[in-house]
Amino acid sequence: MCLFCRIVAGEVPAKRVYEDDRLVAFDDINPQAPMHVLVVPKAHVATLNDLDTTHDALVGEMIRRGAAIAAERGYSQRGFRTVFNCNADAGQAVFHIHLHVLGGRPLKWPPG
Ligand code: 5GP
Ligand code: ZN
Repeated sequence: MCLFCRIVAGEVPAKRVYEDDRLVAFDDINPQAPMHVLVVPKAHVATLNDLDTTHDALVGEMIRRGAAIAAERGYSQRGFRTVFNCNADAGQAVFHIHLHVLGGRPLKWPPG
């Protein structure tokens, strides 16, 4: 099982901030901003390249959940960033798709 499947299963601890039938969200272990949450589907999908039409609703839920978590923390108006890294050039390290939700400080563009 991959690391995030193990977190989903409760075998590896994480600070969960949201959970439903299809998603879990937890604090990143190495936060890059005051808010750094990962929104993760319970089903294993390795990379964005592995998505098909059956995943469309799931990915929509991930993005809306990220926005809802940012809203709970008061970041809707000042702003926040959502990121999916895919494969080596983007620095993907965990091969189970996850949406990074970052906020609480100004974020530079373009990213490094
Ligand atoms: P990626 O580079 O794959 O887009 O992001 C992986 C993220 O997972 C990184 O931001 C990293 O800090 C986070 N991460 C790696 N291992 C763990 C872990 O065991 N627990 C938690 N909560 N986050 C992790
Ligand atoms: Zn997995």
